[in-house]
Amino acid sequence: MDSNRPRTPPEIWEIALGEIQVQVSKTNYRTWFSKTSGLSFQENRFTIGVPHTFAAEYLEKNQRALIEKVLTGLTSPEVSISFQVSGNGHGPPHAEAVLPTPPPNFTRINPRYSFENFIEGGNNRLARAAALAVSENPGHVFNPLFIYSGSGLGKTHLLHSIGSAATFRKVNVICTSAEQFTNEFVAALRERSTEEFRNKYRSIGMLLVDDIHFISGKEQTEESFFHTFNALHNTNRQIVMTSDRPPRSMPLLEERLRTRFEGGLTVDIQPPDYETRLAILRSKASGSGVNIPPEVFEMIGRGAQSNVRALEGLLNRVVAYARLLKVTPTVDIAARALDDVASKATRPREITPSFIIDTVAGCFQTTREALLGRERDKETALARRLAMYVMRQETNCSLSQIGQELGRRDAAAVTTACKKVTADLEESPYLKRKYGEVRQQLHQGDSAGGR
Ligand code: ADP
Ligand code: MG
Repeated sequence: MDSNRPRTPPEIWEIALGEIQVQVSKTNYRTWFSKTSGLSFQENRFTIGVPHTFAAEYLEKNQRALIEKVLTGLTSPEVSISFQVSGNGHGPPHAEAVLPTPPPNFTRINPRYSFENFIEGGNNRLARAAALAVSENPGHVFNPLFIYSGSGLGKTHLLHSIGSAATFRKVNVICTSAEQFTNEFVAALRERSTEEFRNKYRSIGMLLVDDIHFISGKEQTEESFFHTFNALHNTNRQIVMTSDRPPRSMPLLEERLRTRFEGGLTVDIQPPDYETRLAILRSKASGSGVNIPPEVFEMIGRGAQSNVRALEGLLNRVVAYARLLKVTPTVDIAARALDDVASKATRPREITPSFIIDTVAGCFQTTREALLGRERDKETALARRLAMYVMRQETNCSLSQIGQELGRRDAAAVTTACKKVTADLEESPYLKRKYGEVRQQLHQGDSAGGR
């Protein structure tokens, strides 16, 4: 340990910083210690250079004991400390950095989204439970958590709910989108501040990244994200990502990232069933001040099946219309409000029973005749049940109409089939995949209006 010459004050302080760094939080360290220096050590007085008086005040008040303890070990038992603004060109910090707690806040969490106003249904149960679990126990249950679904099904809502809940528990959260991450990274490259960029992302307790598919194929961003991911993951910091598709379906994503993304829990959100759609509508309408009768909810609930955002759009339309006319929205009023939406925007190709039967038959490599016929082999029966279920979801047909369409079966058979599919969708990845394919084909044309 002993060297021939005594250590200089800058060297002593350098070593002290090393010890301090492991004793305070990263954010704390970065905010208050990273720009300090060892100026002098005379007559047992150690003088520390700080960038501004705020830092001097803060350190004096909150960190004196720690600093003295560390310096005692390095210099002499009688050491005392003082601070001196060393005016090295750093202006005063931003207002929030002046406050010792909470640490600088990077979060941009939308307070409108919470677990409380997220309606649970069979379509999102697992995703919601997983989100709740990681918000309560970050870094220790599933890491990373990867949530995927089609557009407008609640990914961002869940992500921000995690963010709010974790922030409430004093976890230091960054909530961002892959696009924002990319932009920031590019700006950091341009401004040669990649070090700061790295530190910012590595000093946090939880990272939430919306729409991660955006980085797919952007090599440098992927690289940067890979390192950020590892740094956080290795130290059990929670990472949650959302995407419009599962990791395995991101064609341009580097293999090593794909492996990381799949290393925790991957869950999907399906389109909500009719009951869940109604529950969501009721919840969204409850704050609108407009009293909406059940039959109007039902009508709206049948208007947009595969996208909650679109569903909300329809609801808002009815509410606006009713407010404008100063009436309670009756079915007639709602029909008028929804009229042009239903005829134009939502449906490039109308989803008819016949279209559904052909689509399902195609996905199961069978024929329309087989579905309408009496064959009872497992695969055909499964396809037939799924066709019924999809009709229930996607059309306004009554149970008996659906039965008619599918080879003159009775309404009770349709009810049984739909129940079975609902249960099986929770259990069978195969059926779930088929259902996804069918839906995708049915809605192929309408993604343009989906945002
Ligand atoms: P995504 O990110 O999957 O495209 P969003 O999270 O932006 O979808 O959701 C779109 C809209 O639908 C938001 O207003 C959101 O609050 C609402 N939403 C989606 N699912 C639910 C749900 N289960 N309960 C309540 N609102 C929901
Ligand atoms: Mg989103």
